[in-house]
Order: sequence, then C-alpha cells, then structure tokens
Amino acid sequence: MNKIQGIHHITCMTANPQQNLDFYTQVLGQRFVKRTVNFDDPSTYHFYYGDNVGSPGTIMTFFPWAHIAKGRRGNGETLAIAYAIHPNSVNWWQKWLIKHNIEHSLETRFNQQVVLFADPEEMVIELVANVDQPVPAHWENGPIPAEHALQAFHGVTLGVDDAMPTAALLVGSFGYELVGQEGNRVRYQGAGGFGQFIDLLVRPGHPRGRLGAGSVHHVAFRTVDDSEQLEYLNALHAAGYPATNVKDRQYFHSIYFREPNGTLFEVATDAPGFLYDEPVESLGSELKLPPWLEQHREKIESMVPTIHLDSYA
Ligand code: ZN
Repeated sequence: MNKIQGIHHITCMTANPQQNLDFYTQVLGQRFVKRTVNFDDPSTYHFYYGDNVGSPGTIMTFFPWAHIAKGRRGNGETLAIAYAIHPNSVNWWQKWLIKHNIEHSLETRFNQQVVLFADPEEMVIELVANVDQPVPAHWENGPIPAEHALQAFHGVTLGVDDAMPTAALLVGSFGYELVGQEGNRVRYQGAGGFGQFIDLLVRPGHPRGRLGAGSVHHVAFRTVDDSEQLEYLNALHAAGYPATNVKDRQYFHSIYFREPNGTLFEVATDAPGFLYDEPVESLGSELKLPPWLEQHREKIESMVPTIHLDSYA
C-alpha cells in the first residue's frame, strides 16, 4: 500500500452556480472539466474545475444548492484552500486580483509568500509561492498565461480543537510527516503528488463551523486504484475510523469518514478519471450523467438551472 499521494479533489458548496463558474474559470483560470449532477441528489449540479485534463490534485468541485445560507467558518472543517504558484508570479497575481476588484493580502508562512483572498462566497483561497513545480496540464484556452497558472493544490488548512488525534491519522494511516510549526499552525507533509500539505490551525474551544455556501464539504485524498483503496478501507477500519463502503462516483471510487476533529475526509481512486466519458477537447461542454441516471435525463435537465458557458469557451 503506497502512502497517500496528496489531495485528489476538494468539494465545496455554492449558492450561485453561474457566479461560481465565472470566478473559477475566468479569474482563477481553472478549466470546467466536468458538468454532471450530485449522484446523491440528482436535481442539483456537480461542477468540476481543474487543469486541462482534470488531473488528480487540481480538482475543485462544487455542489450548487441555490437556496442554502452562507456558511460560517469554525473548527471541525476546512478553513482555507491553497494553490501553488511559481515564486515569480506573486506580483502578477496581485495585479490580476486588483484588476478583478478582489481584495487580497500578503503573508509569509514557513518562508513562503502567500497571497490571500476570498471567492465570491467568502471561501478563503491562498496562493502559495512554492518551489518551482510544473503546471500539471495547462489550459491553453484559459485566461492565465502558462508561466503564472495555478500549479495544482498546495494543500488545505483545517480548524481543530486538538491537533493530536488528526495528526495520528495523518501520520499513522496516511504516511504524512510533521514538517513545521508557526504559532498555532502545525504543518504536515505527505509523501508525494500535488496538494501535499495539511496545516492544522489549533484553536481549543473555538466554535464549530456551520456548513453552507462558501464552505468546504470534504477533502479527498488520492489512492491509485480499487485494490489499494480496499487496503485503505481495511486499514482505516482496523485503526477505528468508521469509513463508508465504496461509492461509485463514475470518475473515481470513494470512501468517506470524518477525521477526529470533524472534517469529512474521502479516499478516492485516480482511476478511471475524467476522460472516461468525453474526450479532452470537449470536457465540460455538456451535462454528463452516469448510466443509472441517463433514463431520467429529460427530467434532470428540466430541474437544473441554465448556465452559460460561452463567456469562457
Ligand atoms: Zn469527493
């Protein structure tokens, strides 16, 4: 069983699908790689953004629930999502955000510059000036030049009451290592892949978050295929984590469990991937449904809101 190879995808919640689509494609320059529905609630969309081919470690997904209230950040959830950028791109991104009327600030953490801002629903996004790492697969038709494009996830920050039980999971079951501490921020690094960093922001007694628009629903970690995922499922059960059975998410297979401080984690397979049901040229261009929902296509299409793709095509 390989150690976990970083983050596979991050799933969030939005109340405004069109605004969300425009922000992630036009401002952050992520490609709309899959337009499908929430398999547990097929009357709502499930949007996937990523690099040009939907590489694991670049995938940000959203459930658009039109009438949900705004979330409130707190312990027991993900507080911020970080992408890596090239160290020479900090100034470019500052100007780009100003051009789009997005307020930002600049910090230094663990000797790396971090550009902080929020998406339209106040979800915190961080751009970490990382070591020079390649852009997984640049979206040539997107708005960001290749040299400044987001370089996949850097990691996430979780709000916790107590670092120890989450650290025991990361180190003991996922193969992460403690690599640094600054104040109440403790950093763990995974064994490889994109999105290797998990920061725990330790805030004993801080109120718990309330999920809503602008909240992270869960963080998914990478496993190669079904057999390795099964080994993880058995190992998690043996260690006392109540992971679910395997769910078929069409583009990957998933198991879920809550880490001890309350954030929902998933372990997802790289296979079969986002090219499973449409070619790379037309990713995201039409509503894709899994075979078991195809018979309800007409009804589903009448229930999901109309969105406009022409603004970025
Ligand atoms: Zn997921």
